[in-house]
Amino acid sequence: MSQPDRHCEVVSQLVEKAATAMQLDPQVKELLREPIRTLTVSVSVKMDDGTVKVFRGFRCQHNDVLGPFKGGIRFHPEANEDEVKALAALMTYKCALVGLPFGGAKGGVLCDPSQLSAGELERLSRGFIRAITPIIGPEQDIPAPDMNTNAKIMGWFVDEYAHIRGAYQPGIVTGKPIALGGSKGRTEATGRGVMYVIREAASAFGRQLQGATVAIQGFGNVGNYAAKFLHDQGCKIIAVADVFGGVYNPAGIDPYQLKEHEVKTGSVKGFPGTQPISSDELLVMECDILIPAALGNQLTAKNARDVKCKWVVEAANGPTTLEADQILQEKGVLVVPDILANAGGVTASYFEWVQNNYSYYWSEEEVNERLEKIMANAFHEVYDAFSNREGLDLRVAAYMVALERLATAMQARGWIAG
Ligand code: GLU
Repeated sequence: MSQPDRHCEVVSQLVEKAATAMQLDPQVKELLREPIRTLTVSVSVKMDDGTVKVFRGFRCQHNDVLGPFKGGIRFHPEANEDEVKALAALMTYKCALVGLPFGGAKGGVLCDPSQLSAGELERLSRGFIRAITPIIGPEQDIPAPDMNTNAKIMGWFVDEYAHIRGAYQPGIVTGKPIALGGSKGRTEATGRGVMYVIREAASAFGRQLQGATVAIQGFGNVGNYAAKFLHDQGCKIIAVADVFGGVYNPAGIDPYQLKEHEVKTGSVKGFPGTQPISSDELLVMECDILIPAALGNQLTAKNARDVKCKWVVEAANGPTTLEADQILQEKGVLVVPDILANAGGVTASYFEWVQNNYSYYWSEEEVNERLEKIMANAFHEVYDAFSNREGLDLRVAAYMVALERLATAMQARGWIAG
C-alpha cells in the first residue's frame, strides 16, 4: 500500500461509524485510537550461502482490556507497520465480538517465505520469537498462525520460548501441532466457522444453502476448509482461485479432489473438467456467495460496481475497502464482515489455550460443538443489532456489539469515568 496509515485509518472510520450509531462514550474511542504498544525488531538470520540477512518484523499490541493480547504472526513481503497495527485492532474487535477473554495483537515479518529454505525459515522463526520474547507470554500476549505461517512454525516458536524461559509453556502460542498441545479442530476452525456463520445467515435471511453457488478466492488453510464444509452443506463450489490462477465449473467442483490436485501440482490451476479463470474475474462473477479468503483490499472502488454475487463473506481480514463497502451496500449486496466471518480461528485458539492451561484435552467433537455455539451466538448478536436499527449494515452492527463489550470492561476496570 502506498498511502501511509491507510489501513489504520480504515479501521478508525469503521469504529467511528459504529460509535456514532450507538452514541459510544468518546473516552472509549480515545482509548482504542492507538495501539498500546508496537515493537519493531530486526532479526538477523544466517542464510544457507553463509551470508547474514536482516529481516524487519513487528508485534503490535492494540488493546488488552478484555484479557491477554491475542493474534497471529504473518510472513509476507509486503508486511508493514501500518497494516500490522490495523490488523491488531481488528483482533481487538474480533475477540470482543465473539466474547473471548482476549485483547488484540498482530505480528508481521517482512520476508518472502517461498524464497527461504526450510532451514532459513526455521532460523527466522526462532529469531523473531526471541526478538519479541520481552513482550509475550501465556498471560501477556499469545501469538498464532496467520498468512504464510502454520503449525510447524508454531512448533518452533513454542520450542524456542521453552529454551529461553527454561520451562515448557505450551500456552505461549496457539495453532501448534497436536503433539505439542495443539487443539484438535484448530486447523479447520476458521473455514468451519465461515460455514457456521453462512448457515446461520442463510436461516436468518431465509435463504437455501442447498445448491447455492460459491466462488472462493484463496485455497490456503481458510479457503480450502471453507470450500469443503460448504460443499458438505450442499453448496455448489463453482470457482476457486489461488495465487497462480483459478478454475471454474458451473456444474460444481469437488473441493476434496481439488485439494488432492493442488497437493500434487502446487496449484488449483488445470484441475480436470474446469475452465481457467483469473482471480480478478472470480471476484466479479455471477454467484450467490463470494468468499474472499486471501489478501486484504481485494474488493475496491475499481471492481465493486461489477460484483454480481448476493453475499460477500469476508474470510480474509480486510478484503473490502471502505469505498467498495459503500458501493456493495448501495447495490444491495450483503457483506458478512471479517471480524465475524473468520472469528472461528481465534475461537479455536482460545480453546487450545484453555486446554493448555488445564493440561486436559478435548475431543474434536467437543471443540466443534463449542465452536458452533460461539459462532452462532455471535452471528445472532450481530443480527439482532442489525435488525433492531434502520440503516445499519452487518459490519457496523458487529462493531457495535464489540464496542459495547469493550466499553463495559473499560468501565469495570476503571479505565474510563462512568
Ligand atoms: N490469524 C487468525 C486471525 O486473524 C487467528 C489468530 C489467533 O488464533 O490468535 O484471526
